[in-house]
Amino acid sequence: VRKWSEIPLAPPDKILGISEAYNKDANTSKINLGVGAYRDNSGKPIIFPSVKEAEKILLASEVEKEYTGITGSKKFQNAVKGFVFNNSGKDVNGQQLIEQNRIVTAQTISGTGSLRVIGDFLNRFYTNKKLLVPKPTWANHVAVFKDAGLEPEFYAYYETSKNDLDFANLKKSLSSQPDGSIVLLHACCHNPTGMDLTPEQWEEVLAIVQEKNFYPLVDMAYQGFASGNPYKDIGLIRRLNELVVQNKLKSYALCQSFAKNMGLYGERTGSISIITESAEASQAIESQLKKLIRPIYSSPPIHGSKIVEIIFDEQHNLLNSWLQDLDKVVGRLNTVRSKLYENLDKSSYNWDHLLKQRGMFVYTGLSAEQVIKLRNDYSVYATEDGRFSISGINDNNVEYLANAINEVVK
Ligand code: PLP
Repeated sequence: VRKWSEIPLAPPDKILGISEAYNKDANTSKINLGVGAYRDNSGKPIIFPSVKEAEKILLASEVEKEYTGITGSKKFQNAVKGFVFNNSGKDVNGQQLIEQNRIVTAQTISGTGSLRVIGDFLNRFYTNKKLLVPKPTWANHVAVFKDAGLEPEFYAYYETSKNDLDFANLKKSLSSQPDGSIVLLHACCHNPTGMDLTPEQWEEVLAIVQEKNFYPLVDMAYQGFASGNPYKDIGLIRRLNELVVQNKLKSYALCQSFAKNMGLYGERTGSISIITESAEASQAIESQLKKLIRPIYSSPPIHGSKIVEIIFDEQHNLLNSWLQDLDKVVGRLNTVRSKLYENLDKSSYNWDHLLKQRGMFVYTGLSAEQVIKLRNDYSVYATEDGRFSISGINDNNVEYLANAINEVVK
């Protein structure tokens, strides 16, 4: 553009736009099912009690606000490695990779930051630019990777008309892609559908990954939200570690976030880990990650990462309280999911898919028209793809919501 006045108006962010409209609505029965952030049974955001405890310890003990390293502190990196790859001593392959210095971990600006850093990194060093993402996927995936210079393309994942995974087409569409493409895999609680692959289905997908020499890029934003226990939700990571140790897979990358499972949303605390072929490769990759991050934001923020360090530091004894806090959050989500299901009219619509879905969302299968009708007639706010963030549901509004849904599907 030659003049600032020629800059066109950008479309509003779909999810944040919903919250704005919700805030303006005067209806006291209004419900916000847009934003993917946890609310308690009274509709309020929370701070995990274990996180509050960690903050007290931090406040009492911290004596400086110096910069951390470009890729975060060693303590944070080791905490993440221990949590995700050693998996509390259960993952012998992950432990071996840690001991052989074959995992490079960097603190990033939450999950989004880790996706962007790996996107930039792959664009700089990986010859293949095509990145396969499930259809549908979190809308920001496509935006992040396009801006990083990669070429996102969809693979089949879900069949909305059947409210189910479309596994046959998933395999077919992956198999038809060029060798060496990058493939994005949701570790658990697929966003937006809440439908994950079974271990047997993962085996079939990983066979295609090996055959086609795909580069697996795993996004794990909801670790813990499938089972309530983060150590149980990482079957995919453990299997990938096994394939690397068996030399059937050379490398993969993992983007991870503490936004949801520690409730650290605005603290922007997450990580990228790259599994490498050797300790020497790790050194080079770490140096290049630093070179990439330094001119963007120099180093990540420290408040959230210090909370994570304290929670995983055995001397503070907070790990179990955090696991309990998380289990409680996931337990409430599962309770409202079943309550919603109980109150829905199964005579006009089959709602069984709700019971198969996991995580923060239900993917209702409602059409855009039905979602708009819910908004206009009942002040129920959700994205037009029919995704409901169920933490907006509680004992006080579940019947109102179910009734509104029953009316619009009639
Ligand atoms: N990946 C997925 C699938 C998500 O749903 C989200 C957040 O909604 C993220 C990554 C990144 O979240 P954050 O940047 O807050 O860690």
